[in-house]
Amino acid sequence: MSVHVIDEASRCLQCPNPRCRENGCPIHTNIPEMIRLFKENKMMEAAEMLFENNPLSMICSLVCNHENQCEGNCVRGIKGDPIHISSIENYISDSCFERLELKKAPSNGIKAAVIGAGPAGITIAIILALKGYSITVFETHDKIGGILRYGIPEFRLPKSILDRYYVKMRELGIKFRPNFSIGGSTNIQDLLNDGYKSVFIGTGAWRPRKLGIPGETFGNVYYAINYLNNPDVYDLGDKVAIIGAGNAAMDVARTAIRHGSRDVTVYVRGQEVSASKQEFEYAKVDGVKFEYNMSIVRIEDDGPVFKMEDGEKLIPADSILIAISQVPQDRIISKEKNLKLNEKGNLATNELGETTIPGVFASGDVVTGAKTVVAAVAVSKQIAEDMHKFMQTN
Ligand code: SF4
Repeated sequence: MSVHVIDEASRCLQCPNPRCRENGCPIHTNIPEMIRLFKENKMMEAAEMLFENNPLSMICSLVCNHENQCEGNCVRGIKGDPIHISSIENYISDSCFERLELKKAPSNGIKAAVIGAGPAGITIAIILALKGYSITVFETHDKIGGILRYGIPEFRLPKSILDRYYVKMRELGIKFRPNFSIGGSTNIQDLLNDGYKSVFIGTGAWRPRKLGIPGETFGNVYYAINYLNNPDVYDLGDKVAIIGAGNAAMDVARTAIRHGSRDVTVYVRGQEVSASKQEFEYAKVDGVKFEYNMSIVRIEDDGPVFKMEDGEKLIPADSILIAISQVPQDRIISKEKNLKLNEKGNLATNELGETTIPGVFASGDVVTGAKTVVAAVAVSKQIAEDMHKFMQTN
């Protein structure tokens, strides 16, 4: 691994106008600078620079769609192979994480609450803690990570990384209330009454989008987000049909194979999968099969039924997994009358990330619907600054 990474770093041209950073990276990671420091044996400096720009650098180096982002834009890729930027970033961020010396401002005595410990919540909590705020994170699950822990399989993102983030966040003085949902016995007003000057909502998108066809409630049908939450409790059988062709569908298919299903087929509505090329290729390597132009019309106890040129056809399957995206599902949204939703059913915010309750901000999937991790981090970085301004002026 290390030899490979050093070789890759040596191939970087240190472009003066680096396309990898400017065109490719949603959070504008300074890739040539990272590589320069790495080659000059200043890896800790590189790691600190990466963390400051993107507290989830270690995670993004594993789960980002690099082929469409940094690596897809690397000038080296025009006539050959792009620099394997993700491996270099992962090597640096992973090896230095425990040793990072984060410069934390002295405590300013101001409390802020973060609801949801997914990518957006973790980013906000870390940035505000570094600015000297006293942060409490409220999380419905027993552990941090949100979609990173309960929606991305172990083989793509080891859960031990999230445990390491938990330790790092505790070191920053961040407090956690696990197994606790805001919107039940305690609501946002209770937080404001208790002196939290600002509240951040990053509760994600957990409600599976339905196909809206007959048979979705049958006992052989499961939604991707529920399955990925805890695949061990499902008995899918040998023959599995997957409806949907994004990254979540690939995650589900590869997880099902790892749990013993022998015949896993992804039924694609059109002619192309929407998953990243890498996830698609890995799914094929793992043995997942693909069928195209398959439009599902209903589900029966024996399997899905598709519309064909000559009528309808049932394709036998033990289980059907539906992976066509998620929308927010949260008690806060339904219980807080003053929180308004946008036309898509997501939480409405203004350009500063502020919801319709003053001092209450939101970002991530609960605002945008299910998007990428790096998109949630990039927006959350800006919103942490907006919350900071709000708390300093109100
Ligand atoms: Fe290096 Fe490629 Fe970025 Fe140029 S575009 S700085 S070669 S990683």
